[in-house]
Amino acid sequence: MQIDRFELADIHHPVVLAKTIHTLLGELEKAVPITEVARELDIQEVRVDRFGGFEGMLLTDKARSTGCILANSSKGNRRARFTIAHELGHFLMERHQLSDGNGFKCMAQDIRESREGRMHLRQETQANQFAIELLAPAYLMTSLFKTDPDLRDAQRLRDHLDLSLEACVRRMVSSRDEPLAAVWSFKGQVRYFVKNDGFPFIAITRNGPLPKTTVAHHATANGRQGFTEMDETDPYVWTGRSHVELFEQTRVAPNGHAVTLLWAELPDEDDGSGLRELGMPGFR
Ligand SMILES: [Zn+2]
Repeated sequence: MQIDRFELADIHHPVVLAKTIHTLLGELEKAVPITEVARELDIQEVRVDRFGGFEGMLLTDKARSTGCILANSSKGNRRARFTIAHELGHFLMERHQLSDGNGFKCMAQDIRESREGRMHLRQETQANQFAIELLAPAYLMTSLFKTDPDLRDAQRLRDHLDLSLEACVRRMVSSRDEPLAAVWSFKGQVRYFVKNDGFPFIAITRNGPLPKTTVAHHATANGRQGFTEMDETDPYVWTGRSHVELFEQTRVAPNGHAVTLLWAELPDEDDGSGLRELGMPGFR
């Protein structure tokens, strides 16, 4: 492997930066060797250990003349791989301002959540965008996707890319064309959710219960581990709308955690233009 940091100078967009690294790396057949990539890009040391008080740390200076990454492995090595990529993002995006004199210290909520707004949060969001684009490039994912959205694809992605299931579900939701959302729950209580641009409003609330009429509620209540099939469900309890066709599938884990994939089929908003395209007269 030979990649030169010089080739990445002046790239400030996280996605473009990660894609350029992949162009330099060439096609990989398996998970991105993130520690080797970081070392090639002038990170002198990557330490993965059960650190306390932070999720990831980058020791560096303003000019990025040197870099050392610490990644917390107390939530697993797959999570730590994402953290290494996140810190590498702070290192390469030289406009990111150091959080103290010695570099960056990133907490669990920095690495999971994507919020826009203040500079600190914008930097964290960009580091996460860089990390997922670097660790889950489109060409390593698409061959694993079946025709229809399926949580089993995210599980295969997890094993193929050596990433957490959570990161893979988020990536699947953001990269597929269908209107999708994912809801994470613990013992029947909603923890949080994400959706892509095409998915309508989500009517449930954080920390509230999974609605009783949902497949997710039944699957988590009976506690049987594994996947349900993708079934049609009541759209109103999930989206506050009844004129949407909605399907849901849940994966129940052994420890009370579950994730539910929602797939909406929206009614066509036909303004007559479709008819005109077909050469048929529309109403005026
Ligand atoms: Zn960070």
